[in-house]
Amino acid sequence: MPPVTTSIFELLKIGPGPSSSHTIGPMKAGYDFMKLVRELPEETRLKADSLEIRLFGSLSATGEGHGTRRAVMSGLLGYQPDTCQPTVLAEFNDNDKQFELNLEGKILKYHPGEIIFDAVKHKYPHSNTMIFRLKSGEDIIFERMYFSVGGGFLRWQGWKEPKHGKPAYPYKTMAELKNHLKINDIRLHQLILENEMAITGMTEDEINKGLDHIIEVMERSVLLGIKTEGVLPGPIGLQRKATVMYTKAKKEQFQGPGFLKAINAYALAASEENASGHCVVTAPTCGAAGVIPSIVFMLKYHMGALPEEIRQGLLAAAAIGFLCKHNASISGAEVGCQGEVGVASAMAAAFLAYSRGCRFQITENAAEIAMEHHLGLTCDPVGGYVQIPCIERNAMGAVKAYNAYLIASTLDESYQKVDLDKAIAAMAQTGHDMSRKYKETSLAGLAQSMTEC
Ligand code: SF4
Repeated sequence: MPPVTTSIFELLKIGPGPSSSHTIGPMKAGYDFMKLVRELPEETRLKADSLEIRLFGSLSATGEGHGTRRAVMSGLLGYQPDTCQPTVLAEFNDNDKQFELNLEGKILKYHPGEIIFDAVKHKYPHSNTMIFRLKSGEDIIFERMYFSVGGGFLRWQGWKEPKHGKPAYPYKTMAELKNHLKINDIRLHQLILENEMAITGMTEDEINKGLDHIIEVMERSVLLGIKTEGVLPGPIGLQRKATVMYTKAKKEQFQGPGFLKAINAYALAASEENASGHCVVTAPTCGAAGVIPSIVFMLKYHMGALPEEIRQGLLAAAAIGFLCKHNASISGAEVGCQGEVGVASAMAAAFLAYSRGCRFQITENAAEIAMEHHLGLTCDPVGGYVQIPCIERNAMGAVKAYNAYLIASTLDESYQKVDLDKAIAAMAQTGHDMSRKYKETSLAGLAQSMTEC
């Protein structure tokens, strides 16, 4: 297996919710397809008279609730996740509204309702498959098959790993990473920073600016969420809860239960923003976008952390996310929610421990404890909406992260018997053995029992 070469900015991406695999990935696919279409020879483009888009697997099962039509449509029209306005998807709520696609020399009319939710069970290599076809009558004149592989990452048929620079400290596992730290006498955040510079060619200053932007978007999602009341979009009619929770926490001066209420409020806030289709940071996915921002906000506003400490903590959290992605998955469609909220909680626990100045071993232990106690967590969003159980699950993930930090930083390190590599291996095995219906299909678990009520 090759070493980790994922960039921090691939893992922690900015884009519209509610689901990185169902919104950010499809938005990118729409954008990419139109870009390729415009590069076709003029005579091919001029022949085109229709567009066919088919969504398969989990995208079909839960795409309606996740806003996949809106995401694809916005991508076709040239919007990109990291640069679009936070509320861009709201422009595409009406499935029947026609939009004009500019093929350079030809305009195609298309409306989101034309996107086809095709088979949930299918023969393609990834659950979240999309087929885009440009047609002339019944003839397909250009086609591309895309895979939204989780966390907003997009692949396509024939995709090849792009050439990254070689990491300064190559590692595939936590054991190898630890070995580098020891023999090179380097701290975790420095190692991740040096790897990032080697992989992406970015300077330290550029990376720090990028991290600051990520922190800013995380904070913005919390701030907007704790101020916004009302009901979330979709047929469930789910009440936003962050404001109420925050008000109670404030009344209790963020002390005792008020402290935990604040952690809950911040996670609910960012998750409710995500459920509204507003921009969040995939940390590591949109579905789990409330966990790390909650702990970041708590650390900054209640524990007085400095910007530098928050940046360093985020680099440590990224290391955990890389290892989970590399050796298991961060996709609910592949391994269930243990790969989304579970990984987010492990990252948040590491973030907290590292930012608080804990030694490396405590950071690893905190991540391991948080990961271990999410093993087996299924993905069963009710009605295909990233609301129940997702929003409260983010609050639980944030509180568990805080608790994992407390356990790891309080008890003697020698008590720790499980290392992070073993917890990640268990997550991969559990995800592999998990019934497919518990992987973001909304056909089982809470999604099913709620329908039966
Ligand atoms: S249950 Fe978890 S993995 Fe599934 S959509 Fe919700 S947050 Fe994502």
